[in-house]
Amino acid sequence: MPFVKVPLLDLQAQFRQIRGDVLSAIEEVCEAQGFVLGPRVEAFETAIAGYLECRHAVGVASGSDALLLSLMAAGVNPGDEVITVPFTFFSTAGGISRLHAVPVFVDVLPDTFTMDPEQLEQKITPRTKAIIPVHLFGQCADMEAIMEVADRRGLKVIEDACQSIGAGRHGRKAGTFGYSGCFSFFPSKNLGGVGDGGLIVTDDGDLCELLLALRVHGSRSDYHHDHIGLNSRLDALEAAVLRVKLQHLDEWNAKRARNAVNYNDLFTRAGLLEHLTLPATDPRNVHVFNQYTLRAHNRDELMAYLKDHEIGHKVYYPVPLHLQECYQPLGYAKGDLPVSEQLAQEVVSLPVYPELTDAQMETVVTRISEFYNSR
Ligand SMILES: *Cc1c(COP(=O)(O)O)cnc(C)c1O
Repeated sequence: MPFVKVPLLDLQAQFRQIRGDVLSAIEEVCEAQGFVLGPRVEAFETAIAGYLECRHAVGVASGSDALLLSLMAAGVNPGDEVITVPFTFFSTAGGISRLHAVPVFVDVLPDTFTMDPEQLEQKITPRTKAIIPVHLFGQCADMEAIMEVADRRGLKVIEDACQSIGAGRHGRKAGTFGYSGCFSFFPSKNLGGVGDGGLIVTDDGDLCELLLALRVHGSRSDYHHDHIGLNSRLDALEAAVLRVKLQHLDEWNAKRARNAVNYNDLFTRAGLLEHLTLPATDPRNVHVFNQYTLRAHNRDELMAYLKDHEIGHKVYYPVPLHLQECYQPLGYAKGDLPVSEQLAQEVVSLPVYPELTDAQMETVVTRISEFYNSR
């Protein structure tokens, strides 16, 4: 078989399809010299609120800030507890700690990698203020079960939907179930900007007003501050580019999902299911595959083989948050959250971006077959 490289992500392939539209959007912002908030940001916020079928969308500087600002708006104070999962990107918990509140970790399910709702309730204490489920890799957590517990116990749910824009569950979009939904436009997300960017969505008009203030230092009219906020706005340049890309999002998400089905098929036909566990989709979910993530036997040796053959791959995430150096003061030990710890040892994500070709996917599967069959 000829030596073919397959990158984990190929953003240039995406750019080639939409080059003209992206460059004119950028040019238009430069001609107007309006870079901070203004009509381009508003137009994007309206468009994306429509896409996500929610009332309000507030553009902010990053997905991490979307989480932080949501926690600030929810009134999370020093010493409060916020329950989340350890098998996620750092900033899911980082915002909690930034407010001098305490992240309390609950384990994930071994098949969907999302919050285990059965273990949620036992983590609630009188100090618990909020819950942050993560819609990991492109599919929703079990929101019915999580909302049932949260509503019964009077807790706010902030959804980390950073990896799941356009994902659905029971006919609703990820990010629209709880108090607020947080999105990231980091370039590698399904809707990626030309730098950092983020978004908060909500149906609550008062929350929207508060967030609009919090992203400009707590101010709704110049130099009058009702709250202590941040400087955290979505740039007009980002908004203009994202508005162009939003028109393609459903098509790109569908291609990712199609690629995942194709991989499942190829791995099954190659007889590799004794070595690999394919990604599971909850039947209630529409999965948008920000990542296609396997559990693999001899994962580290497999990765070395893929590296030698220039097949893009990455481990999301190698160290669960409760075992991170910076969280040692929280007092967790190895074995406390066994599913997350096991996943950290077993998972590997493969290229699944929309422009991936069938031949590239076949190459990936062939390499993985070679690895297992040569052992
Ligand atoms: C990307 C991501 C974030 C943070 O987004 P940034 O825009 O990079 O700050 C938060 N949570 C999860 C699960 C993410 O994947």
